[in-house]
Amino acid sequence: MAAIGRGILDLERVGGMLCIDFVNTMGWRGRALSNEWLKTPADLFLWARSCHILSQDTFDRASLMAESDAAGDLLEKAHSFREVLYCIFSAIAAKQRPCDADITTLNNGLPAALSRLRLRPSGTGEQWEWHGDDVAIEEILLPIVRSAMELLTSPRISRLKECANEGCAWVFLDGSKNRSRRWCDMRDCGNRAKAKRHYHRAKST
Ligand SMILES: [Zn+2]
Repeated sequence: MAAIGRGILDLERVGGMLCIDFVNTMGWRGRALSNEWLKTPADLFLWARSCHILSQDTFDRASLMAESDAAGDLLEKAHSFREVLYCIFSAIAAKQRPCDADITTLNNGLPAALSRLRLRPSGTGEQWEWHGDDVAIEEILLPIVRSAMELLTSPRISRLKECANEGCAWVFLDGSKNRSRRWCDMRDCGNRAKAKRHYHRAKST
């Protein structure tokens, strides 16, 4: 998907689950024209808010520190965790076993995130709240880690695919009846593949 001239809020969510949409904040991995949608900490906070991961209050606090070094560190952690998730999903989509090191990183992400959660008594039952005043990357990553754990242990994992447009590197859950979906997005990669086929056919005749 093309990111040129568009902002993070324009990013389509075609993955079918939060963890997959997070992986798809990067496209064309390893290519000269790779599409990084989370270019700045502000992009990360906006994306997380638009997915309802961050409360308005945390988002406001995060936005105030978006220019800081600490926010830069959060973005870096988000990027590296996202690439670990991509490696796991890409391997599974190719019917291969994910790397042990990647699975270990995912496993470690859960306790790290949970260590920041506290129960707070309230009039309507207990509520989760984050411990500490700083905006922590775990707050953004916990829902993503949970979403990934849910997917990896669900039968839906057999529907995980990587876009057939070579290099696109977006992943998605194929919800079609006959499991025939090949492209992340028919309007983008699907059309490009169609145009390519057309070109080669016209050339050979
Ligand atoms: Zn694609």
